[in-house]
Amino acid sequence: MSSTRVLVLNSGSSSVKYQLLDMRDSSRLAVGLVERIGERTSRLRHTPLLAGGEPREVTEPIADHGAALKAVAGELSRDGLGLDSPELAAIGHRVVHGGKHFTRPTVVDDAVLAEIERLIPVAPLHNPASLTGIRTAQRLRPDLPQVAVFDTAFHTSMPESAARYALDVEIADEHRIRRYGFHGTSHAYVSRATAKLLGKDPSEVNVIVLHLGNGASASAVRGGSCVDTSMGLTPLEGLVMGTRSGDVDPAVIFHLSRVGGMSMDEIDRLLNTRSGLVGLCGDNDMREIRRRIDEGDERARLAFDIYIHRLRKYIGAYYAVLGKVDAIAFTAGVGENAAPVREAAVAGLEGLGLAVDGELNAVRSDRPRFISPEDARVAVAVVPTDEELEIATQTYALVGAGHEPSPAPSNDLT
Ligand code: AMP
Repeated sequence: MSSTRVLVLNSGSSSVKYQLLDMRDSSRLAVGLVERIGERTSRLRHTPLLAGGEPREVTEPIADHGAALKAVAGELSRDGLGLDSPELAAIGHRVVHGGKHFTRPTVVDDAVLAEIERLIPVAPLHNPASLTGIRTAQRLRPDLPQVAVFDTAFHTSMPESAARYALDVEIADEHRIRRYGFHGTSHAYVSRATAKLLGKDPSEVNVIVLHLGNGASASAVRGGSCVDTSMGLTPLEGLVMGTRSGDVDPAVIFHLSRVGGMSMDEIDRLLNTRSGLVGLCGDNDMREIRRRIDEGDERARLAFDIYIHRLRKYIGAYYAVLGKVDAIAFTAGVGENAAPVREAAVAGLEGLGLAVDGELNAVRSDRPRFISPEDARVAVAVVPTDEELEIATQTYALVGAGHEPSPAPSNDLT
């Protein structure tokens, strides 16, 4: 029996999202989510996607990631898709931070685990969860290849001029401070899918990708390689997000500390969880913000305007970085669904060859599509992202093609 299935695991601090795919046709066999791990109210929602499968919910307390994965394995077994199946080729793990040297997906061994661990200081919230996910999966199926797919990998092609902050070089290097970028799996997938929509090879086109979800980032992709992205050392830099501020003058932090009397932890929480759209107007869901604007709510209007202003600045910046742009692609929850955001982002930019056709923009669809007029110089597109499929594809390409595990990176890992 050939092994054509890949389980994709996205382990967060208190959640695990998963999908089981069959790589013969990239179809989903099952999807699910374990939430509130470690709390009394944990919940597992499992949806078998084979014919006739009904969604199921398990609401027993799930103590830790190990218990979560066991519960997932149990649900998959009930559908005849157990992790012990010889049809399972590999498990692909989303790992948020791969530093400077993990430039591609990597089969996990002890050295790779050690390097992911070494990166915890630059990804304190995310990498520990990924490590727990990988170690738990290894215990369940020690014989199976576990593949780490890094959110930062796509951005490792950025030139030093984009990746470095203008800081003292020795201090920056000592503390591994540089711009890593995140959402890389999505930017890679969407930039390639946009080239396909244009009927071109990725090497032939320059694309600005706008990943606008609860977290949001922009990237400039030249001929298939990322040359700049808006997130930096952490996912805090760049665009206005659901709860994160994006760019602020770093002196805001000194001010809040010295004048506002706030601790570093309080400022960290403020910028990451009480800023962005939620800080500006109390809501981080774009649907709710649009509803409030329609009712004449001024705070919601201002939040929207600040969000759009920052987005337009990045479009302009990446236009200049690329010189020539073939397409702008909107993706993720807001980018795929919020027509008013797309319209406002390019309004008045006809001078740059950018325009949105009102009718095309209003169409709701889950397929990649153009929303610019036919004669537009630069295509504007909506391209739904699919990070799980990208992780599964990269994982399967690595183990399905019988590659050797990648060599462990050198000491100088950042
Ligand atoms: P993501 O992080 O990609 O799952 O995106 C989540 C965000 O997408 C939510 O917080 C909403 O702001 C936004 N979103 C989802 N659906 C819609 C919609 N139909 N219209 C506007 N925004 C939406």
